[in-house]
Amino acid sequence: MKCTPLIAGVLTAGLLLAAAQIASAAGQPFGKTADGQAVEVYTLKNENGMTVKLMTLGATITELHVPDRDGKFADVVLGFDAPAGYQSEDNQYFGCTTGRVCNRIAKGKFSLDGKDYTLAINNEPNHLHGGAKRSLDKVIWKAKEFQTKTGRGVRFSYTSPDGEEGYPGTLKVVVNFSLNNKNNSLRIAYRAETDKATPVNLTNHAYFNLAGAGSDSVLDHQLTINADRYTPTDDTLIPTGKIAPVDGTLLDFRKAKKIGARIKKLDDQATIGYDHNYVLNRKDAQDDALVFAARLRDPQSGRTLGIRTTEPGIQFYSGNFLKGQQGKAGKTYAHRSAVCLETQHYPDSINHPEFPTTVLKPGDVYQSVTNLFFSAR
Ligand code: BGC
Repeated sequence: MKCTPLIAGVLTAGLLLAAAQIASAAGQPFGKTADGQAVEVYTLKNENGMTVKLMTLGATITELHVPDRDGKFADVVLGFDAPAGYQSEDNQYFGCTTGRVCNRIAKGKFSLDGKDYTLAINNEPNHLHGGAKRSLDKVIWKAKEFQTKTGRGVRFSYTSPDGEEGYPGTLKVVVNFSLNNKNNSLRIAYRAETDKATPVNLTNHAYFNLAGAGSDSVLDHQLTINADRYTPTDDTLIPTGKIAPVDGTLLDFRKAKKIGARIKKLDDQATIGYDHNYVLNRKDAQDDALVFAARLRDPQSGRTLGIRTTEPGIQFYSGNFLKGQQGKAGKTYAHRSAVCLETQHYPDSINHPEFPTTVLKPGDVYQSVTNLFFSAR
């Protein structure tokens, strides 16, 4: 066939369009942020029908559908139907990637290599979850689907400029979410590199209710935490530096217990329920070994979440500040209707040289992996 300039032009345009469609095939529009940035959502689905949705605002898990013991699916994480919800006062870090440093830094201050740094105080009198405006949950990440040996994943990447939210160094962060095709497991792998020494502590802040997001309460769920010890705090939830046994305390979840069994006794504590960092039992495990951290089970549906991690700690937060806000599909999220199990280094580690370090140096690579396994029995 003779290719006239017109046909060639049409063919080229067609090819470019097809290429653009392939490149962006997986990301679907999920509305816009208040300042007009496009947000996309990616969907991963495995052979069993387990489905995970992830959006580019905050590298956030927006939906996670898993079956109960009769094969009935429910979305077990809290979230909103559009970016506006995630950008509103009602969003309490639902499902996001949290950082650069998750949890608290005392009074928003730390010193590193002889320099003093001051961060936003967004949880009086402390700094919480990486800051007020440009923490990792509030920015748009680049996203790309990838194939693994066992399934598919979405890779999120973001470069945080030197000084963003007061932290030193240009930080390149990658978070890979991969869904196993056969096991109902979601692997979250974090990687970061910097050009100046800086603290890094990354986690995912999903709120789970295994009976389905929007169910009244999570207090009947049974919880096991593989920790003999925890980090006691002052009244502003900053660790004192001590590491104390859970034995004989309300925090002992070494054997499965109902979350609600003793929670009332914590009502008048500074934490207003459970909001504690547990020191995971890692025995002689290598730093990069995945170790059993926690198991959450809803006895009604049988849905069970098992968590394994390379991290030394896990924050068990019993949704004490959920306030009945309206979430996905008009559901309300009542006080203590979901829990967070945030794998992490201990809070305020940057001010506690006795804790495992959170300092990332140029030339080193921050790596952290957490696996979420879902089953039903
Ligand atoms: C913290 C809570 C905090 C919550 C914010 C958790 O990680 O431990 O104290 O209120 O995040 O949603």
